[in-house]
Amino acid sequence: MEFVSTRNKNETVTASEGILKGLADNSGLYVPKEIPKLDIGMDKLSKMSYQDVAYEVMKLYYTDFTEEELRNCINNAYDSKFDTKEIAPIKESDGAFFLELFHGKTIAFKDMALSILPHLMITSARKNNVSNDIVILTATSGDTGKAALAGFADVKGTKIVVFYPDGGVSRIQELQMITTKGDNTKVVGIDGNFDEAQTGVKKMFTDADLNERIGKMGYQFSSANSINIGRLIPQVAYYVYAYAKMVDRNEISNGDLINVCVPTGNFGNILAAFYAKNMGVPIAKLICASNENKVLYDFFKTGVYDKNREFVLTNSPSMDILISSNLERLIHLSCGMDSDKNSKLMNELITTGKYEITDDMKSRLNDFYGDFATEEETCNTIRELYNKTGYIIDTHTAVAKCVYDKYVKATGDTTKTVIASTASPFKFTRSVMSAIDSKYDSWDDFDLVDELSSLGKVPVPGAIEEIREANILHDTKCKVNEMEEAVVEFLK
Ligand SMILES: *Cc1c(COP(=O)(O)O)cnc(C)c1O
Repeated sequence: MEFVSTRNKNETVTASEGILKGLADNSGLYVPKEIPKLDIGMDKLSKMSYQDVAYEVMKLYYTDFTEEELRNCINNAYDSKFDTKEIAPIKESDGAFFLELFHGKTIAFKDMALSILPHLMITSARKNNVSNDIVILTATSGDTGKAALAGFADVKGTKIVVFYPDGGVSRIQELQMITTKGDNTKVVGIDGNFDEAQTGVKKMFTDADLNERIGKMGYQFSSANSINIGRLIPQVAYYVYAYAKMVDRNEISNGDLINVCVPTGNFGNILAAFYAKNMGVPIAKLICASNENKVLYDFFKTGVYDKNREFVLTNSPSMDILISSNLERLIHLSCGMDSDKNSKLMNELITTGKYEITDDMKSRLNDFYGDFATEEETCNTIRELYNKTGYIIDTHTAVAKCVYDKYVKATGDTTKTVIASTASPFKFTRSVMSAIDSKYDSWDDFDLVDELSSLGKVPVPGAIEEIREANILHDTKCKVNEMEEAVVEFLK
């Protein structure tokens, strides 16, 4: 398997090279030359553990890893860090199937990929005779940050710097990050929003002077953001696993179609579902759920991607994104992997903030259905689901549930649907509890945590218990134009 840049059809890499490099030249993204087909039946997959399903998926992409290397990475990632053997359990509630992707260390779905990425990266470095230490630069809208920090903390041969929008993440998310231990970790709050953080990080990756400067210090950059193929591919595994478990539970027969509904920000998670579909998993519709930053909803409706609009801070902050980086991979596919055409569109996005795809390209996106949920609808969804069933979901998952309900109403399609449940409600306790009852508005954060545990009849996750008393170890703040210096300072 070779991976090719979305912006230059002549730039190809092996999996391990792509994982190390993160971003291709000219800010391109690596994509598989062809999406491989599963070479094992669902009947077999349905009886397998999460780890074995993950192996069956990843081996088709990471073909330059030996079986031993890949199984080692998988076993180091999906172990007792997860609080359930199933790794990604499915809970049925109100007729939908919630795929709980939040049982890892930081109780959000990014753990699914970020617990394996450090192992893939170190293995890739070894395979490619890299002697520099790897410096991970990450921009986060909340969840990536802690998940990446947790994944890389104290991993030998790596350092990690995380930038987050100061004031743009929940208090619990911020506490999770700034209490991170590990000498190789650095957390910086910036005076700007997520898109500015992400743009700043992208700039550092491609800044030749900076790369040379840190090279002399014995370092090289890599990315843990969802553009890395070391994150994208592990996410495909849980959609294959979800289908297999639906078969195993007799919710569907092998071959029946399901829909998948994903709360979307950077478009990585839903793209993974699209890859799973193209690998042969019987998925019909991919329902793309946005919050009030509904740039993707508008895109699927009109074929125009336009980021020129007000940036809204919502109660689902991990989806407060106006540039969905991974969408580029879908655009690239929809224009027949024409890297010139794709580059032209992406340049328009940089210079004018928008681009429009052709009708022909649009017709290749028919698997996708987009809609969005307002803040009020999101809160109502949490409250109504709790009142009806006792099941408590977080704000991001609620965006998806709300959009799923709208989809059923608009189309009458009652195909069984898996909703990606991307965060534990404990990660967004304040928003969740306020949605259930406004009387909670005045409560203290950790009293709310205990109340949520009692209402939802779910124990407080370890990730929350951990930060109750933890010390703040990171207090660096900087301006958007000082990000580079913050990195150099830390590496000195
Ligand atoms: C990151 C995140 C999302 C969005 O996922 P993308 O892959 O960026 O589309 C949704 N929900 C939560 C809780 C997240 O952390």
